[in-house]
Amino acid sequence: MNNQILSDKNLQIRETIPSLTIVVPCYNEAEAFIYCVQALKAIITDLVSRQKIQQNSHILFVDDGSKDNTWLQITEAAKQSHYVQGLKLSRNRGHQTALIAGLSVVETDICISIDADLQDDTKCIEQMVDKYMLGNEIVYGVRNNRSSDSFFKRNTANIFYGSMSAMGVNQIENHADYRLLSKRALAALLEFKEQNLYIRGLIPLLGFNSDKVFYTREERVAGESKYPLKKMLGVAIEGVTSLTVTPLRLICALGFLTCFFSFLAIIYILIAKFTGQVIEGWSSVIISIFFLSGVQLLSLGVIGEYIGKIYMETKRRPKFFIDEKTNIKLGHWE
Ligand code: UDP
Ligand code: MG
Repeated sequence: MNNQILSDKNLQIRETIPSLTIVVPCYNEAEAFIYCVQALKAIITDLVSRQKIQQNSHILFVDDGSKDNTWLQITEAAKQSHYVQGLKLSRNRGHQTALIAGLSVVETDICISIDADLQDDTKCIEQMVDKYMLGNEIVYGVRNNRSSDSFFKRNTANIFYGSMSAMGVNQIENHADYRLLSKRALAALLEFKEQNLYIRGLIPLLGFNSDKVFYTREERVAGESKYPLKKMLGVAIEGVTSLTVTPLRLICALGFLTCFFSFLAIIYILIAKFTGQVIEGWSSVIISIFFLSGVQLLSLGVIGEYIGKIYMETKRRPKFFIDEKTNIKLGHWE
């Protein structure tokens, strides 16, 4: 290891060529798979030939319980190229869990996670490796803009990031799960034992030196998004509840506010009563009942989310089961 120090971040330039695993979670990606495997194989071959990464680098496809022939395609690709590895989960567990399943069997010096639909610019892989060589442990792939997203997705994403930062959560804006992790950063990530994972929220908690590469996100190369509104909402709720308890504090603040205004109303009503005025009853009573019932149900819902989370966490259930594998030795998993 060279001791050359780069001034700003105290980075140490690396000199040893790393081995790389590209981890790709796939759920019903039969249509996109062929494009994905071709593009990633070309990149790995190129980087190996230019001695940017070692020969024992891989592309690890994690089949997240697909119902189409994704797994068949993975096994065929693995027969044709020693770079291709496959892992099949016993059933669909969701993107984040599929990603963790893949990451937890990685044995190379660095790993890069990327989606199967080639929305993330694969040219950044080389830039990520370069930034790793400069001494970074984490390199985030960050989108330049969200122009390829629908109006709805763009705005809901803005609201989500806006409210997360208002709640004091440190997130990398416009970064999803396209990133490089060094062996150290990956080991640290795998120390997080929570059941419901929101990986992109956990990474900034790791610390370590990090950098970003910027890219424009393209449309899906083929197939459809596996993130319908319901799943997106699930991920957003997971993100909030796993990273902050601010919503619980907001309930408290809301309670204080309601008490304060009720106190003012009480004074007003008492003064009115003792000065002989008649207060119109019906509307004000109904409005208060509706308003307070809404506030209470909302608050109970938020508290319920956290209690539900505690319940799920206490069960300590296994996150996933590996059903099949191809071209990969699983070390301690076997
Ligand atoms: N994915 C997965 N399990 C799921 C849903 C999605 O492994 O239950 C994978 C999917 O195959 C893709 C990545 O997660 O590689 C991101 O999904 P998608 O591209 O559909 O999400 P979007 O880009 O539309 O947010
Ligand atoms: Mg996508």
